[in-house]
Amino acid sequence: MKIHEYQAKLLFQDYHIPIPRGNIAQTPEEARSVAETLGGDTFVVKAQILAGGRGQAGGVRIVHTPEEVAKTAQDLLGKTLITSQTSSSGEKIQTVLIEEGIKIQKEFYASILTDRSAEKNALMVSTEGGMDIEKIASTLPEKILIEHIHPATGILPFQKRKIASLLRLSKQETQEVGELFDALYLLFTELDASLVEINPLVLTKKASFLALDAKITFDDNALYRHQELLSFRDIQSLDESERIAREAGLSYIPLDGNVGCMVNGAGLAMATMDIIKYYGGNPANFLDIGGGARVETIAKGIQILVSDPKIKAILINIFGGIVRCDRVALGIIEALKSVDVHIPLVIRLKGTNSKEAASLLEKSSLSFILADTLSEAAKKAVAAAKT
Ligand code: GDP
Ligand code: MN
Repeated sequence: MKIHEYQAKLLFQDYHIPIPRGNIAQTPEEARSVAETLGGDTFVVKAQILAGGRGQAGGVRIVHTPEEVAKTAQDLLGKTLITSQTSSSGEKIQTVLIEEGIKIQKEFYASILTDRSAEKNALMVSTEGGMDIEKIASTLPEKILIEHIHPATGILPFQKRKIASLLRLSKQETQEVGELFDALYLLFTELDASLVEINPLVLTKKASFLALDAKITFDDNALYRHQELLSFRDIQSLDESERIAREAGLSYIPLDGNVGCMVNGAGLAMATMDIIKYYGGNPANFLDIGGGARVETIAKGIQILVSDPKIKAILINIFGGIVRCDRVALGIIEALKSVDVHIPLVIRLKGTNSKEAASLLEKSSLSFILADTLSEAAKKAVAAAKT
């Protein structure tokens, strides 16, 4: 689960990680009053979306009066922001964060993350703050320090000295940044995060450290241990389909292609997407309806797919094991009574009772394209999406 910058900053505050003063607003008037309360002569208005790259895309603006803050908020709220990290359709801005403007001396990059290949947690630091870390890794790898963190000791003094040496910090600054990393690591472990990132971490003109940006990703498998975090879940920024999917317990991830897929099992869903690509098509989504394949679940899945205007053909690929194919066929027939499908529908039901399933489908008055093998199903769906 990802959370917004302002939510991550609330957690930073709990862990005594320094952040700029600020508050959120959902209307231009609220934005103005936040600025008036903050005072000062520089304000930063930041679009709150669940993706980075906002600075480049015009989602982070520096202004000088509460009046300009209100205007900027008016300009941003309700707009869709497309950044290098959002999908091509972008994300709608529902909230802005207004902060005091900070005079920056230096910008750094700091994060703690799970390094899967090393099977350890790691801290990562770079002198090149504000830039995309992947870009730094490929162009200036010597500017990045990666240190694995031993779970029994936490971050060790020699590792803090390595950070200080890379960032060329004074003794006082070394002490400060060491404390900041300890706090960051405590947050990371206590809240079961998989990534905590500060980009940029700045050294201000007044020579103190501040987290100017904040990004936290939580491990979904550990969320059950953190009821307190669930209120951060941003239902509003999910689109209608994602909301339906979440409520129905389906795993659904929209993508950019035009072949909608509905599959049971994550592995089969991945294989189905691969084979659609192999035959020259583009999957429009990942949709795993899970093991049960009940009529309601199938209906919800089909409803999600037909309401996506990008989708030009649907491929239903179900492997019947414990779930018998004839049950699934009845489910599809039942579901199609309540959902109007106006695009080609390719169906492949394989496994237990697949013959019975095929004859049920053939007998029904509904129109679909049947397929036997996965290749045949993918070819037919890709061809149907092109017409
Ligand atoms: P991102 O582009 O989505 O990662 O958004 P950031 O929160 O990192 O903001 C983008 C850039 O705006 C930062 O890298 C900073 O250079 C700049 N910025 C943000 N807040 C301030 C501020 O208070 N003062 C100044 N001078 N620059 C800021
Ligand atoms: Mn950033």
